[in-house]
Amino acid sequence: MNRAQRRAAAKAAKKDGNKELSEKIFLFNQLPDECLACARAFDKGDRQMVMEWNVVIREKEKIVRLYCPECWHKAKKLVEQLENK
Ligand SMILES: [Zn+2]
Repeated sequence: MNRAQRRAAAKAAKKDGNKELSEKIFLFNQLPDECLACARAFDKGDRQMVMEWNVVIREKEKIVRLYCPECWHKAKKLVEQLENK
């Protein structure tokens, strides 16, 4: 590999990384500002909320769903109940 090839490869790698990052930022910007189930307000700037709330990302469809901890818990319980039937 000569110097020009090396530079081209590095450039390509950097480009890919940036693409992935911009995709993540795009999805983050798509974050709803309320719980999908109960419409409780969500504050993106609140670290605690960001940690506790549940985000479901469907990258293919570019759909982002957001659930507050209570609704997430309820949904999980419902699924468990259905599975135990
Ligand atoms: Zn909720």
